[in-house]
Amino acid sequence: MNNHNDKNTALKSIYDDVMLPNYAPADFIPDRAQGSRVWDKNNKEYIDLGGGIAVNSLGHSNPILIKALNDQANKLWHTSNYISNEPAISLAKKLTELTFAEKVYFSNSGSEANEAAIKMARKFHHDRGENRDEIIAFENSFHGRSILNISLGGSEIHKQGFEPLLSGIKHAKYNDIKSVENLISNKTAAVIIEPVQGEAGVHEANKDFLKSLRDLCNETGTLLIMDEVQSGIGRMGYLYGYIKYEIEPDILTSAKGLGGGIPIGATLTKNDIASSLSTGTHGSTFGGNPMACAVSNKIIEIVSDPGFLIEVQKKEELMMNLLSEINSETKTFSDLRSSGLWICCDIKDLDAFELLDRCYENGLILVTAGNKALRFAPALNISEDDINEGLGNLTKALNQI
Ligand SMILES: *Cc1c(COP(=O)(O)O)cnc(C)c1O
Repeated sequence: MNNHNDKNTALKSIYDDVMLPNYAPADFIPDRAQGSRVWDKNNKEYIDLGGGIAVNSLGHSNPILIKALNDQANKLWHTSNYISNEPAISLAKKLTELTFAEKVYFSNSGSEANEAAIKMARKFHHDRGENRDEIIAFENSFHGRSILNISLGGSEIHKQGFEPLLSGIKHAKYNDIKSVENLISNKTAAVIIEPVQGEAGVHEANKDFLKSLRDLCNETGTLLIMDEVQSGIGRMGYLYGYIKYEIEPDILTSAKGLGGGIPIGATLTKNDIASSLSTGTHGSTFGGNPMACAVSNKIIEIVSDPGFLIEVQKKEELMMNLLSEINSETKTFSDLRSSGLWICCDIKDLDAFELLDRCYENGLILVTAGNKALRFAPALNISEDDINEGLGNLTKALNQI
């Protein structure tokens, strides 16, 4: 494969020379992409059913988003937080109109959105003269890679060697209200939970559990934070996952699909909690920058349309039907789960990363969840043709093993 035409290999070898080894990316390097199709440096075509881990919500090179970005690029890039800008104001207005929230704080990533959420929760209690700084998070959860977020998270590998972690964080069992009751006290500032645990393999919270958790938080004066960084922006067939569960969080964090590939994070909350982050208490250089917000405005307009969300649910059904058919032929998977266009297949015998390489070879981009599951989080506007072709490529990959 080392001939002079192999631009993937040449670039990958430079990657290995100059980049930190914290990732182990694919052997190919994408060159361009359109919708749910990607072409690498050797011009090989792939169907993208990974969606950049639920980020490319409206596909690659979406003309509406390109126009929004270009129009904004020709007008105003950056102002600093001394001065506001129209795209940020208009995005915050939309988010408050469409959700439980009354106030919005912008940042650049999911980790930062969670950072603001936790600071907000602690400060809220502090301002009331209460000594409540503990946080309850959940086993197997994922909240990002900063010291705060690995402390919240459930993965030991993410923590090892990075100690000391943040103190005052306890881990309850997901979908087990008793385990939360055992940990919650008048020292607890907040509970942080993903409505569906994405990195852990698309495991949904039970409706009864989330309702009981909401009640428990109300009874004990604890704030409920929902990390919707991966579950939000239509991924579950709802603008945000909490809507499906018919409960409201006190604070919600959003990122990934919110920018469709442009970095943005948002922390949403109610007026009384928002007021704890008074002037000068928190900030971000790039948060709420006009370029990201201009793109995000368009994404929210499109994704919040009820007709669009119904289509997401229909495509979930199509993908799940096809995957069940594939599995009855190949018997590769021990379980198939979905929550909107967010699907996870537990693999019986094979290693997920080995299977992923086979998928790449057969022109399919996916992501994994741990090393025993494949995860699908395609563009929400993916066509049925692309779904069919992508899963056809999956069948080819599975038949090679
Ligand atoms: C991806 C993710 C994060 C972290 O987001 P970054 O943008 O990588 O900082 C946090 N929470 C959840 C649920 C995520 O899926």
